[in-house]
Amino acid sequence: MTTITAEAGTSAQQYVQSVYEAVIKRNPHESEFHQAIKEILDSLTPVFAKHPKYMKQGILERIVEPERVVYFRVPWVDDKGVTQVNRGFRVQFNSAIGPYKGGLRFHPSVNASIIKFLGFEQIFKNSLTGLPIGGGKGGSDFDPKGKSDNEIMKFTQSFMTELYKYIGPDEDVPAGDIGVGAREIGYMFGQYKRIKGGHEAGVLTGKGIIYGGSLTRTEATGYGCVYFVNEMLEAKGLSFQDSTVVVSGSGNVSIYAIDKATQLGAKVVACSDSNGYIYDPRGINLHTVKRLKEVERKRISEYVNEHPHAVYTEGCAGIWTIPCDIALPCATQNEIDEEAAKLLVSNGVKAIGEGANMPSTLEAIEVFLENRVLFGPAKAANAGGVAVSALEMSQNSMRLSWTFEEVDAKLHGIMKNIYQNSVKAAEAYGHSGNLVVGANIAGFIRVADAMLAQGVV
Ligand code: NDP
Repeated sequence: MTTITAEAGTSAQQYVQSVYEAVIKRNPHESEFHQAIKEILDSLTPVFAKHPKYMKQGILERIVEPERVVYFRVPWVDDKGVTQVNRGFRVQFNSAIGPYKGGLRFHPSVNASIIKFLGFEQIFKNSLTGLPIGGGKGGSDFDPKGKSDNEIMKFTQSFMTELYKYIGPDEDVPAGDIGVGAREIGYMFGQYKRIKGGHEAGVLTGKGIIYGGSLTRTEATGYGCVYFVNEMLEAKGLSFQDSTVVVSGSGNVSIYAIDKATQLGAKVVACSDSNGYIYDPRGINLHTVKRLKEVERKRISEYVNEHPHAVYTEGCAGIWTIPCDIALPCATQNEIDEEAAKLLVSNGVKAIGEGANMPSTLEAIEVFLENRVLFGPAKAANAGGVAVSALEMSQNSMRLSWTFEEVDAKLHGIMKNIYQNSVKAAEAYGHSGNLVVGANIAGFIRVADAMLAQGVV
């Protein structure tokens, strides 16, 4: 990609459009990556109009190109003695403000487009936390569903046997994401230690508490999302108290979003997995969901066996037909399309908090903004997880552990700051109340300034 920035008379809009077109040409068939780029680039035009220095230094051309992408073979032998081969990925997107930081996703849908969209988003999210962490993401098309513990261990050990070459506490610090929780992080940490020797606790986050993990990391993304939505509600004189909430998914982010929303007085009436959703008009019983999903690793459909007044419906997309005041999409990308967004609006939704990454399509976001629904975009609303991961890195460096309350208070403060910085950036660039634009600009400027300071690298 040649920079067009030095050309006299190039308007900010032309500049942004030309970079977007070049990304599509250079990365064909990567629709999720294109979508993430479009969402951010559309917001940045006013920044380039106000500060042409970013255009002159080709910041955008550089920021859309990962610093490094690694693909690798992950061979392993299953319980039947059959050799399996998966593909591993790590995208080290941007290290202008700190070591690459971002989760690992194990899901059959994982490909270059998905890892690049997640890695690109991560740059701005990490910047928004105000902490010194760059952006990265990784994973594999391995499907953990239905695998034995032994198979999970063999796969993760093989994955780490290649990944260890590219990571380290000051270089790149992976964490969990879909399909990667404390069990997988534990096996990967064990294999890293075995290969490298020593006890470099800061190489991975999301570790178990007894070997260097941080209290509140498990809860952080879900809690953080609810803290963020609470800020949006309070600014309009609203609250979670007595509101009806729908949360999609039933994994790590969903469970702790349900937990915190309930603590704040809301009634969460529905959650889901990739097969279907449950509706419990009395309010979801979180103990049952936690046991089914965290301990027994069963399907959400089993909930109704213990709570017969609740209803299970096959097909996860139908969850958005349930009327609610607040919707928290916490499962996966593009789970709310235009039609689902319109339905939510017509059913009177007041606020959306994106716990998952890019859960709303560009068309759905448009519907929410046009209808003045309070909208907390993923890179701001779900930044609590990576923020507490960065706090885990700090504790590892200091060889100290903070209490649950200490970390939770820091998380709460970080989410309030992210909200305020996003509000201020939106106002400063003429888009008052639009947190999509505000979060993108606030996240971008910190990284762009660090890139300017470090020269063309
Ligand atoms: P988990 O693997 O713990 O849970 C994912 C949940 O989403 C499961 O209930 C899963 O169901 C469900 N799900 C997956 N695909 C679909 C689908 N197509 N439709 C409906 N439900 C689906 O992952 P996490 O909770 O960690 O991650 C959820 C989202 O949050 C992801 O977008 C992730 O990138 C994002 N995120 C996570 C962070 C974290 O700290 N964990 C931090 C920031 C963002 P099933 O079991 O059937 O697959």
